[in-house]
Amino acid sequence: MFICDDHFSSKSCPCGSQKLLNHCCSVYLQGQLPAPTAEKLMRSRYCAYCLKNIDYLFNTEHPSYRKPNSRKLITATANSLRWLGLTVLTTEGGQPEDQTGVVEFVAVYQEGKSAAQLHERSNFIKEKGKWFYTDGEMLPPVQPKKNERCWCKSGKKFKQCHGKQR
Ligand SMILES: [Zn+2]
Ligand SMILES: [Zn+2]
Repeated sequence: MFICDDHFSSKSCPCGSQKLLNHCCSVYLQGQLPAPTAEKLMRSRYCAYCLKNIDYLFNTEHPSYRKPNSRKLITATANSLRWLGLTVLTTEGGQPEDQTGVVEFVAVYQEGKSAAQLHERSNFIKEKGKWFYTDGEMLPPVQPKKNERCWCKSGKKFKQCHGKQR
């Protein structure tokens, strides 16, 4: 299993792109460039949770969707969860020429001693050339086929991991 923290020692990007952090999400996290697509914004926001970059998470949430306690909620989530990996499943729109985009993903995090998954369809809109996260819909956990690799990124087959009949 790979863990957020491991990525920082190897300097590979937590978003799972297999690129170096400096050549991937870091450019957006440090504000050098705005993320060009909804998917890249989503990936960089995942990294921001790993890196506890609260300002980035707050600033990339669309102002009209922010709640009065947004910053507090973001901080609490970033501080309480240990992220284990990200898989982007599908994207709709969200390209540089689009104004809206949807990204469906599974993010794995540690819950007690076990891994848990967040399966979400996130919505994004672009305003003045910048992508923003608006809101998301939580979906039921992804259940791979028996012989496919488990969603938890243990490398084991689903039937030998979280899909085990107990
Ligand atoms: Zn990245
Ligand atoms: Zn598993």
